[in-house]
Amino acid sequence: MRQAARPASRVTRAPRAERAVRTPRAPRTRGVVKPLRNVVILAMVGGLVATVALPAYAAWNPESEALTIEQVAAENAQSLVVASDVVTTDLSRSSYAATTAEEVATKKAAEAAAARAAAASKSRSTSSAAVLSSVDLSLVAPGSGEVRWPLDMSQIKIGRGLSGAHDGVDLLGSAGTPEFAAAAGTVRTATWFGGYGNGVIIDHVINGVTVSTLYGHMSQILVSPGQSVSAGQIIGLMGSTGNSTANHLHFEVRINGGLVDPMAWLYSNAG
Ligand SMILES: [Zn+2]
Repeated sequence: MRQAARPASRVTRAPRAERAVRTPRAPRTRGVVKPLRNVVILAMVGGLVATVALPAYAAWNPESEALTIEQVAAENAQSLVVASDVVTTDLSRSSYAATTAEEVATKKAAEAAAARAAAASKSRSTSSAAVLSSVDLSLVAPGSGEVRWPLDMSQIKIGRGLSGAHDGVDLLGSAGTPEFAAAAGTVRTATWFGGYGNGVIIDHVINGVTVSTLYGHMSQILVSPGQSVSAGQIIGLMGSTGNSTANHLHFEVRINGGLVDPMAWLYSNAG
């Protein structure tokens, strides 16, 4: 009985103790609840502010995450468009603007060739019966500079260049195409020599520099040794004489006796 009564009394005491404990705790929990309420209110206010002030941002994030692939594709498409725009502007720049001496030279030559082609078509239309006069021996080389192109380059294909045992450039065209002195000078050689066939060598002094030009494989030589020629004067007609398999001008340039790349020399000087 004592044992049973003791636990019973303990049991009855226990709620008292809990009540006794709870009553003093009540203000403490109230003190905790107030900050909690404040926190909740702050959170609600913050949420309200967030939903009112940042609705676009709140809606944007999930959308951006959901549409990542589409956005990436769109961004890629945009970047591709931008890249293509850049390429087209670069192409237009390189095709319409000359930045190097070579481009200037080629542009000048192209413009001169176009002008002469237009003039030639006019003369052909006015003189219709002259088949043999298709080669005008009074023609001079294009341009007005001290150095000229040895041919009207509008009808010429550039073949083998300076390489190995080939001392010049092969400029391919039709038989009888006029060939011009690349600069004013004196004819040193005007005869058949070896594999060059009918060839001409002209000595020049250009800006105080000794330059010689060689013209090979002519069908006909129109100058004589010792003759003075002016820049652009016709000196012969294109052919395939000597060691040659096609009508072309084999053109060599030497500066102070040293071989140079004839095309590079022309591009940087002729006009
Ligand atoms: Zn050659």
